[in-house]
Amino acid sequence: MAKIIDGKAVSASVRAELKTECEKFYLENGYKPGLAVIIVGDDPASKVYVNNKEKGCAEVGYHSEVYRLPAETTEAELLSLVDKLNKDDKIHGILCQLPLPKHLDETKVILAIDPKKDVDAFHPENVGKIMIGNYSFLPCTPAGVMELISSTGVDITGKECVVVGRSNIVGKPQAMLLLQKNGTVTICHSRTKNLAEVTRRADILVVAIGKADFITGDMVKEGAVVIDVGMNRRADGKLTGDVDFASCEPKASFITPVPGGVGPMTITMLLKNTLTAAKASAESK
Ligand code: NDP
Repeated sequence: MAKIIDGKAVSASVRAELKTECEKFYLENGYKPGLAVIIVGDDPASKVYVNNKEKGCAEVGYHSEVYRLPAETTEAELLSLVDKLNKDDKIHGILCQLPLPKHLDETKVILAIDPKKDVDAFHPENVGKIMIGNYSFLPCTPAGVMELISSTGVDITGKECVVVGRSNIVGKPQAMLLLQKNGTVTICHSRTKNLAEVTRRADILVVAIGKADFITGDMVKEGAVVIDVGMNRRADGKLTGDVDFASCEPKASFITPVPGGVGPMTITMLLKNTLTAAKASAESK
């Protein structure tokens, strides 16, 4: 029987620390850390994420601004808003909720955000810094996974770590973070041969593929730490992960549930990055 990693509890404890640090920051500097979130169009999932980001800011005491732009917003209008926020002293973190409507170039928007305010860590300058291990911000979801692993007390050093998924926002940075903690890391993807053979080697298995209940108990080593990043909607509307919890839980030593595992950590790590950005900005003055 695995111990369930409670993402809500870990997230709440990080947020409590952030609230205290925010109060201290305000006393020292006379202003609050500030996060600006831009959303273009009315994708329902994006709206929920943006509302949760706004709520998260209120919870820890940050200044927050949300720009809800119509779907027909032009690239020039969006880039002009990013430029304005780059120059705004009240704003330390800028996030443009993805995906953008098709006529807008996501890469151009990411490149336009000042890397010092890029709290999603999507700008190539920040991606490069993660590669060399000299980073200001960690991408939010992989950083949340690292907090969850740390909460188990399991030392990553020397462990076989398998990451399933190689996206730029989860799989690749996740592998780098595990490597930096001295894991022996394998990255799997849709062309990996004999996936189950590789996943069965994992002491720490992180799954981010976007396929409901894909990893089954026979693919998991006895005693493994299993982290499920996936968020998929079943036909009945229920949220489920990439890991088949029922068959994997009896084999794992620790496992994250979906919902209530990785999900609650992502916005918390965004809030952490915003405080880091505000502190760096205050120090540079
Ligand atoms: P992407 O679609 O960008 O990447 C999926 C990756 O999974 C790709 O690298 C793909 O391989 C790999 N993959 C797909 N099918 C298989 C397979 N059968 N075997 C092995 N690998 C496979 O997804 P994301 O990384 O953005 O997201 C992954 C999941 O995590 C989604 O469910 C998403 O909703 C969730 N997510 C959750 C977050 C949270 O806050 N909890 C945040 C971000 C994502 P290839 O490269 O070869 O195509």
